[in-house]
Amino acid sequence: MRLQQLQTDVLVAGGGAAGVPCALAAARCGARVVLCQDRPVLGGNASSEVRMHIVGADASGGRGEPLATEAREGGIIEEIRLEACVQDPQRSASMLDLILYDLCRREPRLVLLLNTPVVGVEMAGGRIARARAERQSTEDAFAIAAEVFVDCTGDGRLGAEAGAPFQHGREGRDEWGEPGALAAADRQTLGSSLLFMARRHERPMPFRPPSWARRFTEDDLRWRPHARAGVDRGLEYGYWWVEWGGQLDTVRDGETIRDELLAILLGVWDHIKNGGEHGAENWALEWFGFVPGKRESRRFRGQHVLTEGDLRASRPFPDAIAYGGWPLDTHPPCGVDARDEPPCRQDPVPYLYDIPLRACVGDQVPNLLFAGRNLSATHLALASTRVMATCAVIGQGVGATAALAVRRHVDPASVPADAEAMAAVQQRLLRDGAYLIGRRNEDPHDLARTARITASSAQAGGEPEQAISGQTRAVHGARGAPPGRAFPGTHRWMSDPAAGLPAWLRLDWPTPVEVGEIRLTFDTGMHRPLTLTHSDAYAASMAWGRPQPETVADYRLEALVDGSWRELAAPVDNYQRLRVHRLAAPVRARAVRVTVTRTQGLDHARVVEVRAYARPGD
Ligand SMILES: Cc1cc2nc3c(=O)[nH]c(=O)nc-3n(C[C@H](O)[C@H](O)[C@H](O)COP(=O)(O)OP(=O)(O)OC[C@H]3O[C@@H](n4cnc5c(N)ncnc54)[C@H](O)[C@@H]3O)c2cc1C
Repeated sequence: MRLQQLQTDVLVAGGGAAGVPCALAAARCGARVVLCQDRPVLGGNASSEVRMHIVGADASGGRGEPLATEAREGGIIEEIRLEACVQDPQRSASMLDLILYDLCRREPRLVLLLNTPVVGVEMAGGRIARARAERQSTEDAFAIAAEVFVDCTGDGRLGAEAGAPFQHGREGRDEWGEPGALAAADRQTLGSSLLFMARRHERPMPFRPPSWARRFTEDDLRWRPHARAGVDRGLEYGYWWVEWGGQLDTVRDGETIRDELLAILLGVWDHIKNGGEHGAENWALEWFGFVPGKRESRRFRGQHVLTEGDLRASRPFPDAIAYGGWPLDTHPPCGVDARDEPPCRQDPVPYLYDIPLRACVGDQVPNLLFAGRNLSATHLALASTRVMATCAVIGQGVGATAALAVRRHVDPASVPADAEAMAAVQQRLLRDGAYLIGRRNEDPHDLARTARITASSAQAGGEPEQAISGQTRAVHGARGAPPGRAFPGTHRWMSDPAAGLPAWLRLDWPTPVEVGEIRLTFDTGMHRPLTLTHSDAYAASMAWGRPQPETVADYRLEALVDGSWRELAAPVDNYQRLRVHRLAAPVRARAVRVTVTRTQGLDHARVVEVRAYARPGD
């Protein structure tokens, strides 16, 4: 093996739902980042190797009150979802791999090492000094020195190598006072799954299972919804409940679990094809996974352990860096072998809830952060926080924290207790499109907050001031943000449809100000679910394959300089939510104006937020 010495600011191990946003966020916040991903593609359980759809706090539309509960995550995961929605109308799994790869490849401060697992660490004085990684395909070994190390491996490999304490298995009720927990602790976890995709053909398609496939009867699967007689649909994608192995060690027994899951998957398909009338005669398997999707492995012990009680009470945390809202979604660890039980129990949480930074950092290894399903949470809390959009917002929060720690030459472990540093992280996250419950834009550098804002027209509730309200979504529905932390309002300027387009929104200052960057946030229909899915029925609930109709498509950005309007940018066919316009050279402007000439479908213009800065912020 060739040994390569690398030096960076932040090393992120694992390029799944948490790792990709984490690495991007850290790089975009100014840090040099190396992202090591053990597989050939990014995305973890969302990648083409596993093909799970990304869901999150909106509970796939299950939070109700659409126009008052925009619970879909913002920031980097929204950028990814919108990119996939528009660039992947065909719903190809490989296209999501490409979108993630492209985002990483285009990020100037980010070095992506694919096929490169992190396999060890070198410690110095209780801190991680270097991570060791190996790329067998090129016979390379890497010693990667960094200031901050982030474990997004799901399995917690990096942290475990560094000796960070972790939990494994299900806690007993008394340990954290969780009413929903087992009476006594055990070593079991959620199981792993293999998914399949099938295609309907014009003629009958036979299937002969391998000799080692399991056999299932209709009675065995009575709790597990699958193809029904006479209903020729729903076979294109499934089944998350092809689950097994939580009674074993998801890391050490990974190969056994994969073998058994293949036997189960092919046995289920054999049952559908050959085990009675399922309307499946013309259907054939198109793809199925060989990489089990894991739900639960090690969970690190952080400065705080997130519990069922925290989630149910929406406990406010001063060091919140993300939020969740998926139900407490527990499964029998032995999966399909629990034939007399439903494959999951989904217990909704009343409101969106905070995820604190202290659940992403411990005291034992002060320069180690963790994000994703290896979060410091009980088994029950993980049952909600594990969904991928929640992992992604945790990842972005952790990435922003890592970059701040590097910039300030402090350990991440010291950040949660430092109110000023926490406020800086939170404000940075808001600026980058994230949502944090009960927090508003208080960025002292945002010139829009001191401007007079006017518009060509406005409809009731969509006054121009809504675009500088400090919050970028409506979450005051009955199951949105908890009471007192929701800030009612539409939080967007909406022009009057009767006035037609173009429509403009304008910031004015009493004396000229230096403007080097303008940030615009548009409406992307955050009340609707949006995710790449291979399920036709789920995809039908979304505006998939095209820009979201609320979004501003064509606009002109101008500054009033020395008495005349100067064009700064004129994008066409925009479909993204956050657009950052960095000027080649700052201008001294008396006013800034955004003129909307076309939307992606709506009859009026909507701008959720406008911000202006003297200098592009790292
Ligand atoms: C079948 C199934 C159904 C699910 N249903 C949903 C659902 O509908 N929607 C949803 O949002 N979530 C769902 N989940 C949960 C969700 O997929 C996981 O909790 C989530 O993927 C966790 O994200 P992560 O980034 O922490 O981990 P992962 O997605 O596991 O990503 C970790 C990444 O790190 C890599 N890695 C591992 N070890 C190393 C190492 N040593 N060095 C470098 N890289 C490493 C892995 O290859 C992987 O790419 C489901 C999970 C499964 C298995």
